[in-house]
Amino acid sequence: MNCPFCSHGDTRVVDSRLGKEGKNVRRRRECPDCERRFTTYERVEEILPWVIKKDGRREAFDRAKIISGMQRACEKRPVSVAQIE
Ligand SMILES: [Zn+2]
Repeated sequence: MNCPFCSHGDTRVVDSRLGKEGKNVRRRRECPDCERRFTTYERVEEILPWVIKKDGRREAFDRAKIISGMQRACEKRPVSVAQIE
């Protein structure tokens, strides 16, 4: 995976741990070029449903869209990022 800071083409995994319930893997990576660190998450690709919009269009389920909609709905409410996830 490319470094998000300097786009170096190869990064090194420095730590890897299983997430809650064993459903994802969190990896700490380090760029050998700029030496900055970042985190990636690996999870199984699910077979997801289509979403039917108000006007009848269908679009692929998009986890990021659901999360951003829920974040907007939960603004100024005591709901943590982890609970939204
Ligand atoms: Zn880098």
